Amino acid sequence: MTESITQVAQDIFQVQVPVPFPLKTVQCYLVREEGAWTMIDTGLQYAPARQAWAHAFQTLQIEPRAIRQIVLTHAHPDHYGLAGYFQEMTGAPVFLLDHEIEIAVFEWQADGEHMDMIARYFAKHGLPSSIGESVHERQMQVLAMVQPQPVLSPLREDEEIQIGAETYRVVWTPGHADGHIVLHRADGLAFTGDHVLMKITPNIALWPGLAPNPLKDYLDALNKVDRLNITPALPGHRAILYDLPARIAELRAHHAARLNDCVAAAQNCTAYQVCLEIFPSLKTVDELRMALVETLSHLEYLVAEGRLVREEKRVAQDQEVILYSAHRVPSN
Ligand SMILES: [Zn+2]
Repeated sequence: MTESITQVAQDIFQVQVPVPFPLKTVQCYLVREEGAWTMIDTGLQYAPARQAWAHAFQTLQIEPRAIRQIVLTHAHPDHYGLAGYFQEMTGAPVFLLDHEIEIAVFEWQADGEHMDMIARYFAKHGLPSSIGESVHERQMQVLAMVQPQPVLSPLREDEEIQIGAETYRVVWTPGHADGHIVLHRADGLAFTGDHVLMKITPNIALWPGLAPNPLKDYLDALNKVDRLNITPALPGHRAILYDLPARIAELRAHHAARLNDCVAAAQNCTAYQVCLEIFPSLKTVDELRMALVETLSHLEYLVAEGRLVREEKRVAQDQEVILYSAHRVPSN
């Protein structure tokens, strides 16, 4: 076995698949059963990722037709991108939570229409147009890295699915993605996707057209997973987790502190201005777009909680911006 392929449990192999993002790799899994394999998550459509998979197939002596099914934890590009490519190669069905299928169709199969919606949304939240253009260009590059599109088969919340020799329950964990799932089996082992990660906090993003309060969904889903006694948790990035409750407690504390920082920073300013205050050392367009949607999920959570108010303001004939400020209780 090589560095990029690690056996992490009986018949379960973790494959490190390179991604051209700050995270560097996404961790996908191959699960063995008698004469067949399940692939969990796929990576992006670009050469280094395809090479990593070719190497894994060769090392584990997997023939493409032995892939019985492909199961995706969510439709983010680094997990979903190669699903269509592998479906063409193997003929395997690609499973995704039913709700996430609607999102995948909306995000990836609609001729870049969603990308235009995102560009207008960023402008409204104060992103300068010069940066907006590079963000849009990047979004279009990402769109190219999720082709060809797979035909998707639905999984339903709480349904059971056979992976390898074991039965897993589909646990819906919205927040990082609206239709994110954790696959959990009775002995505690689970594939946890990007729901809980070590060292980095999963990006909780507010995108136009998707769930309006993803941070609330996320905190609720952390509570749900906290009760499941999961161990080990096999994640989409970074180290395997053996003490999920401890990491969940850290993530809760992180978001509570970040919410307070957002309240302090939101003084009649745009989400972009709050974002620069919260994340002062952003270097790349990828970091910036992720930071901005992360800031927005916190700001809108605070609006829903009544701690901030949101106001639209016309700044030019055809341009409105959205401003956030702390909610002041009127004195009388
Ligand atoms: Zn993700």
